[in-house]
Amino acid sequence: MNLSTLAKSIGESPTLKLNEEARLLREKGEAVIHLGAGEPKNKAPINAILSSAAKLTTGDIKYTPTDGTPSLKKAIIRYTEEQYDRMVAPENVIVSAGAKQSLYNLLYTLLNPQDEVIVLAPYWVSYPEMIKMCYGVPVIVKPEDGSFYPRMKEIEAAISSYTRAIIINSPNNPSGVMYPEEFIKEIVKFCEKKNIFLIMDDIYHRLVFDGKTPISALKFTEKDIESTNVIIINGISKLYGMTGFRIGWVVTNKKIAAIMLNVQAQTTSCPALLTQAAAEGALMGVQSNVESLRMTIENNRNVMVQELKSFDGVKITKPDGTFYCLPDFRAYSNDSVALSQMLLKRALVVTVPGKEFGMEGHLRLSYCGSIKDIKQGVERIKWALDPNAPKEIFIGERKLVRDWL
Ligand code: PMP
Repeated sequence: MNLSTLAKSIGESPTLKLNEEARLLREKGEAVIHLGAGEPKNKAPINAILSSAAKLTTGDIKYTPTDGTPSLKKAIIRYTEEQYDRMVAPENVIVSAGAKQSLYNLLYTLLNPQDEVIVLAPYWVSYPEMIKMCYGVPVIVKPEDGSFYPRMKEIEAAISSYTRAIIINSPNNPSGVMYPEEFIKEIVKFCEKKNIFLIMDDIYHRLVFDGKTPISALKFTEKDIESTNVIIINGISKLYGMTGFRIGWVVTNKKIAAIMLNVQAQTTSCPALLTQAAAEGALMGVQSNVESLRMTIENNRNVMVQELKSFDGVKITKPDGTFYCLPDFRAYSNDSVALSQMLLKRALVVTVPGKEFGMEGHLRLSYCGSIKDIKQGVERIKWALDPNAPKEIFIGERKLVRDWL
């Protein structure tokens, strides 16, 4: 079949593929533990449900303005003022079907063929593929010291005359680390000096631990929203645990927003009315859900780190936020894809290979599930890999005996 070469070159989403594999195994009755998930277990906030239900019962469910309903945009403007200390206008905000679509529309709007976008390893799997889908070139910058913290020196060395943008995700999926304030300050200044867009993927910005507070890149520019190079992406998926509602947004200057509006108008018309109403409910309602989710996840993080610390040979960088960590399993294998497959087959634990995030030899483990899953999941991994771990384990009703070490 003669299909698009570009489309055929786009990699599948490893995380979504693993979700599907785990679902199929569970359907077969297998006691799978999912340490690969990218969504918290909490229910949607009641205000979100009520707001959406109220719209639904009117039966009047039509297209909305392309860039989002005026009332949701008002809620996002309020959020931006509260969280970023910036007043923006409705023309600076475009609501899309998830932050993923916001990012894609943004890259589509910014890039000409062969333009380069700097992506910092470890990175979210979708960045390089989305850049390629917009005919751009992802330029991966990986810290030479093997840490998860980018350094300006290495970023500067990767800049060329084709560099259009840098994407930052902090706290970071998959490592969980939060970049230091000094680094964010430096990179804002650098991008403004060089006229490079700085895309801040803030989807996890308030899911931070140990008393840390979110860092807003906008704090480090004296320019207003019309002239700054900083562009903000955010959404309700992670903070409110509302992944299935598919609402995200971008805050940027009016020129970029106007082009993004056309891109969205011609491809999706608008995000769905019912989920926009839900997002509005979440943003305008009581915010205690966010804090209680954050506290639950912080506690889960503590348990995950404690379990991994007692794992011989595994090195763990303590996450500052998100619900992921990226332990180093090189003491056991340098091939994270094979390791992840082996753990799924033998121990029925879903992990995501670090290779997908530009960090071979690591595995991304999520701690957004239950404490029981975290403890049992790590216990199973130990059983499968560590010769000092007990030889026998119960998985569901079955007693398994390790015979490969
Ligand atoms: N950015 C990052 C870093 C993410 O991890 C995700 C979701 N996995 C997104 C963006 C997309 O979020 P949404 O559900 O709003 O599309």
